[in-house]
Amino acid sequence: MSTAIVWFRRDLRLADNPALEAAVRAHDRVIAAYVHAPEEEGAWTPGAASRWWLHHSLMALEASLVKHGGHLHVVAGPTLASLRDLIGASGATAVYFNRLYEPRIVRRDKVVRRALEQDGVAVASFNAALWCEPWDVETKQGGPYKVFTPFWRHLRTRIDGAEPLPVPSRLSFADVGAGGASDAIDDLSLLPTRDWARGFSIWHPGEAGAWEMLSLFADDALAHYAESRDLPARHGTSRLSPHLHWGEISPVQVAAYLREQAARQRNAADIEPYLRQLGWREFGHHLLYHFPKTPTESFNPAFNGFQWAERDAHALRRWKQGRTGIPIVDAGMRELWATGWMHNRVRMLVASLLTKNLRQHWVLGEKWFWDTLVDADLANNAMGWQWVAGSGADAAPYFRIFNPVTQSEKFDPEGAYIRRWVPELADAPGRLVHAPWEDETFLARSGYPRPMVDLKTSREAALGAYQALREKRDAARN
Ligand code: FAD
Repeated sequence: MSTAIVWFRRDLRLADNPALEAAVRAHDRVIAAYVHAPEEEGAWTPGAASRWWLHHSLMALEASLVKHGGHLHVVAGPTLASLRDLIGASGATAVYFNRLYEPRIVRRDKVVRRALEQDGVAVASFNAALWCEPWDVETKQGGPYKVFTPFWRHLRTRIDGAEPLPVPSRLSFADVGAGGASDAIDDLSLLPTRDWARGFSIWHPGEAGAWEMLSLFADDALAHYAESRDLPARHGTSRLSPHLHWGEISPVQVAAYLREQAARQRNAADIEPYLRQLGWREFGHHLLYHFPKTPTESFNPAFNGFQWAERDAHALRRWKQGRTGIPIVDAGMRELWATGWMHNRVRMLVASLLTKNLRQHWVLGEKWFWDTLVDADLANNAMGWQWVAGSGADAAPYFRIFNPVTQSEKFDPEGAYIRRWVPELADAPGRLVHAPWEDETFLARSGYPRPMVDLKTSREAALGAYQALREKRDAARN
C-alpha cells in the first residue's frame, strides 16, 4: 500500500487540484496535510483579515474532506520538520504540492524539496493557481513582459483550451500512525481576539462559497460587467478575489464556467472584459516572480529619488480610520475595515489620496491593505499600489492625479456608496454628498470632518515633486 502526502497551501479545494489528482492516481492512499508556518513567509506573514479567512477556509476544507471519508491533518511548522514527522509517522513515500510564486515561499519550497529528496522521498509540484507559469510566458525577444497589453494579448491565445479537473473519483485516505497527531484548526489561533471581524459574515470562505459567489456573478452581473465594474454602489464585480487568493477556485475553473454560461446565453463576448481582469492577476504574479523586490522597491528605479513626505502618523491614522474628510475615500476605508474588502475603483482613489495628495510612501498603504484585506495578495497588492503611485510596471502616469470629487460624481453619481458607508452624509443634499465642505452649515450639522488636505494645492505640490524628480533624472542623463 503506498501512501502520499498532499501538502495543501493556498490551493484549499478538492476540484481542479492537480497535486491531489496526481497523488490519488499514483498512490493507494493519501494524507491531506496543512502545515502552518507563517514565519517562513518573511516580512509578509498573513495579516489579520487573511488569518480570519484562512481559519474558515481550513474549516471548510476539513468539512469537505470528512464528507469524502478523510480529514485535514493540521500541524504548526516549521514546514520541513513537520513534513518529516508526518512521513515518519505515516510511512508516506511521496509529497505532492501546488506551486506558489512569492519569493520567500519559492525559496522555502526549494529547500524543503531538496531536503525531502535527499531523504529518499519523491516530491512533485504542479501549477494550480495560474493559467500559465511565469517562466513560461516570454516576450518575442525573450524575458518577462513589463507591459500589460502585450502580456494579455499573448496570454489570451493560451487559455481557451484549459479544462479544469473534477474532484478525484477515488479518494482514499491513510491514517497517520501514532506520534503524528493533528492539531485542531482552533489551535492555530488565527481568529482576531477582539470583535472586529463581525462584518466579515458577508463572506463564505471555502470551495463551496467560491462557487456560490461565481454563480451569483454569472447570473446577476456578468452581462453588465463592462459597464458596472466601476460603480462601487452596485454588486457589479465577482468578489472572487479572496477565493482566488486562497485557491478555493482557480482561474481555469472560473473561465470554463463563465464560458459555458455565456455560451448558453449566446453571449460569448460578455466574458472578455472579465477574463482581462483575471489577466491582471496573472500579470501581477508574473511581475512578482520575475521582479521579486516589487513589494518593497519601486519597479521604476527613477522613483528611488522621489521626495516622499516624512511619514505622517497623524495623517495615516485618519486615512486608515476613514476620517480624511474626503467622502469617497472615507467610504472606501470604512468599507475595508468593516468587510475586509474594497471596490477596485475606490482602492485606486484611496491609494491616490495617500500617495499623491498626502505624498506618503506607497509601502505604508500597501501594509495597511495587507493587514486588513481578506484578499491581501502580495502580487496584486504590490502591483496595485505601484500602479497608482506611478512607480510600477505599466503604471498610471504620475501626473494623472485622481480628483476624488469628480471621480465620486462620475462613479457614484447618487452618492449611494458614500451614504452607505458614511452615515454622517446619509442625508446630504445633491452634490454635497461628494463635497460637503461646500456648505459650512451642512458640514457643521453633519459632524463629518473638514478635509485634512486641500485637494488643489496638494495636487500642485505632488506635481512639483514629480517635476523635481524628472529634472534630477534629466540632469543625471546629461
Ligand atoms: P473582479 O472585477 O470581479 O475581477 C475578477 C478577478 O480578477 C479578481 O478577483 C482578481 O483576482 C482579478 N483582478 C481584478 N482586477 C485586478 C487588478 N487590478 N489587479 C490584479 N488582479 C485583479 N487584488 C487582490 O486580489 N489582492 C490585493 O491585495 C489587491 N490590492 C490592491 C491594491 C490597490 C491599491 C489596487 C488599486 C488594487 C488592488 N487589487 C488587489 C486589485 C483589485 O482591486 C481586486 O482584485 C478587485 O477589486 C477584487 O474584486 P473582485 O474579485 O470583485 O474583482
